[in-house]
Amino acid sequence: MTRDGGGERLGRLGPATTREQARRALADAFEAAGLPCAGLDARVLTCAALGIDHADLVREPDRAVGPAGEALRELARRRLRREPVSRIVGVREFWGLRLEIDRHVLDPRPDTETLVEAVLARAVARGAETLRILDLGTGSGAILCGLLRGLPEAFGVGVDASAGACATARRNLIATGLSGRAAILCGNWSDALCGRFDIIVSNPPYIPSSEIGSLDEEVFAHDPLLALDGGEDGLDAYRAIAPRLASCLAADGLVALEIGATQSASVSAIIGSAGFSPPETVRDLAGRDRVVLAEREDAARPQPASRTEKVGRSAARRVATEGAMRQRLALSASSGF
Ligand code: GLN
Repeated sequence: MTRDGGGERLGRLGPATTREQARRALADAFEAAGLPCAGLDARVLTCAALGIDHADLVREPDRAVGPAGEALRELARRRLRREPVSRIVGVREFWGLRLEIDRHVLDPRPDTETLVEAVLARAVARGAETLRILDLGTGSGAILCGLLRGLPEAFGVGVDASAGACATARRNLIATGLSGRAAILCGNWSDALCGRFDIIVSNPPYIPSSEIGSLDEEVFAHDPLLALDGGEDGLDAYRAIAPRLASCLAADGLVALEIGATQSASVSAIIGSAGFSPPETVRDLAGRDRVVLAEREDAARPQPASRTEKVGRSAARRVATEGAMRQRLALSASSGF
C-alpha cells in the first residue's frame, strides 16, 4: 500500500458514473492509499458531494452523479492528502450534536466526550438547578454545547483567544439552539471575566511542542497549532489556568480539565498547588487517562435542602445569575453575539 496511491482510480469517475460506482471508486482509492475507514469515508464524501443523505444513496444507487462528479473527485483528492473527513465536510458529530468546524478550531474528538459525561454526572449528582459554566479555550464550543444541552437550566460563557474560533463557537451555539443561554468572549483565558462559575472546563493545548511534528498528519496538518501546542512539556496552559481558577470558581465549584494520557500526575500537582483537593482522574473509553477533576479545598458543600427550600433557592439564584449573564452578554455584544 502506498501512502498516496489510489488517486489514479478516480480518473474513471465522470458524469455518467452511477452513485454506487462512484462510492466504490472512492472506497477502492482510499483502501489503496491505506486509509483506515475507506468504506465509511467514501460513503460520507459521496453523499456530501451529491447533496444527498445515506438513505438516498441506498434508494437510488444507479442514478448518474452528473456534474457533481467533478466536485466528488476534488473531495476525494483532499481525503487522499490526509485531510480528515470532518474537515472536508465541515461538520463533526459531538455528544449527539452536529457541530460546524473550520480551520480556526480543533476538531472535537470522541475522547472529549469523556469530559462532558464526567461533568454532567457530577452536576446532576449535586442536584444543582442553575449552574454557571465557564469553558476556557472553547474552540468550536463543543464542550460548552454538550454541557448546556445536558443541563437545560445552566448558563455558559466560552472564551477563546482566536477570534475565528469565537465566531465558529457562536454559530454552533445558534445552530444547536443554545445561544440564549451562552456568551462567547474573545480573550486570554479568564482575564476579561469577573464573577464566579460553578463549573470551569477546558480542553487546552497539551501536546509538547517537540511532539507536534510526530502526531498523525491529519492532526498536525489540519488542527490549529494554537489548540495543540502546550509548550515545552505540554503543560503551559495548565500553569496559566491554575492560578486564575481561585478568583473565578464558586466555593463549591468543580474544575474539569482534559489532559494527555501521560499528564495526570503533573496536571494534578499543578491544580493541587492552586488550592484544590486531590484531583480525581477519569479515563476515556480506550482506558487512557483523559480528564482531571478537582473541587476547591475550601468547598463548603451545602446540606441537602428540603424541596421547598430548594425551589426558592433555585429561583433566587436564577434571577441573580440571569442578571450577571446579561452583563456578560452586554460585554460581548460588540463582538456580534
Ligand atoms: N487530543 C488532541 C490530540 O491528541 C489534542 C488536543 C489538545 O491539545 N487539547 O491530538
